[in-house]
Amino acid sequence: MKPQIYVTYPIQAEVEAFLREHCDIRQWQGDGRVPRETLLKEVAEVEGLYTGGSTIVGQIDEELLTRAPRLKVVSNVSVGYNNFDVEAMEKHQVIGTNTPHVLDETVADLAFGLILSTARRMVELDRFVKEGKWERTTDYRELFGKDVNGATIGIIGMGRIGEAIARRAKFGFNMDVLYYNRNRKPEAEAKYSATYCELETLLTQADYVVLMTPLTPETYHLIGEEQFKLMKKSAVFINISRGQTVDEAALIRALENGDIHAAGLDVFEQEPIDPQNPLLSMSNVVTVPHIGSATAQTEIAMAMRAAQNLVAVLTGKAPLDPVGK
Ligand code: NAP
Repeated sequence: MKPQIYVTYPIQAEVEAFLREHCDIRQWQGDGRVPRETLLKEVAEVEGLYTGGSTIVGQIDEELLTRAPRLKVVSNVSVGYNNFDVEAMEKHQVIGTNTPHVLDETVADLAFGLILSTARRMVELDRFVKEGKWERTTDYRELFGKDVNGATIGIIGMGRIGEAIARRAKFGFNMDVLYYNRNRKPEAEAKYSATYCELETLLTQADYVVLMTPLTPETYHLIGEEQFKLMKKSAVFINISRGQTVDEAALIRALENGDIHAAGLDVFEQEPIDPQNPLLSMSNVVTVPHIGSATAQTEIAMAMRAAQNLVAVLTGKAPLDPVGK
């Protein structure tokens, strides 16, 4: 008998075909996220759980693991795995996996999309044109933005995606690259002429501050009031990591007070964002709906990698991408 798995959202035909070769699939067929109660019932019999992306269903925690005595693997279709209670999973001997590498370039592309669109006010000025405000008398100085080329970028979290951003910054835009991690990365320093610095130094020197760390207890609200006050008033802040790595109320105040110049945001403390959120009425803020890895090619690559991880564990092999301590 094949092991039973639960899939929390619609998957592509080729991924389903691959999974069906090795597993019996039960799948959430409803709209949106699978409700927590449904998930808790569904995991009772399964050996594998396939989840992730925008449908992450909350913590894989003690409560869920206790209700899933047969569970061996939770495969996330995302590189972030902040939905895992890693300690509880280790205790219950459940392996967690993610999908690193296959999305790095796509997320780095979005980082530059946000950098350019905030710096050159592309969204604001797109509206300006479409609303018929562009007239012969328009003073071009009113449309000025900030240069990206030759500026200083500060990358907080020089990991796989951070490096893909650094490569674009260095070789595409001739930028000076600063970075902050808990550990230095001499190879990255050599490849991108990157300078390691303490967080405070990065914040005071960078023209573009890009946050790219995972969400962990240590990075929760890593950037808050104190950090925004350290940034240049002309700084552009970009967050593509997770919403909770930033104290969003402090970000709103920093933008309102002119402590920073602009922000480009892919992630938010609450997703989907509350339509009343003040960020949505600021012309110097570019918002996109958590689309860092959202291209058709990358989606399928991530989905297939997650399927391979899940099948590996269920067939007694080592997964490609185990996560944990
Ligand atoms: P990664 O290769 O693990 O890189 C993460 C980097 O963050 C590492 O270099 C790590 O260096 C640094 N870091 C971790 N904790 C830190 C801390 N407390 N202070 C400073 N630096 C810290 O991960 P990745 O693949 O680049 O992905 C990073 C994150 O991006 C993911 O976890 C996910 O949350 C997010 N992401 C978002 C999207 C999206 O759609 N918006 C898409 C993909 C990924 P040290 O260990 O040396 O500190």
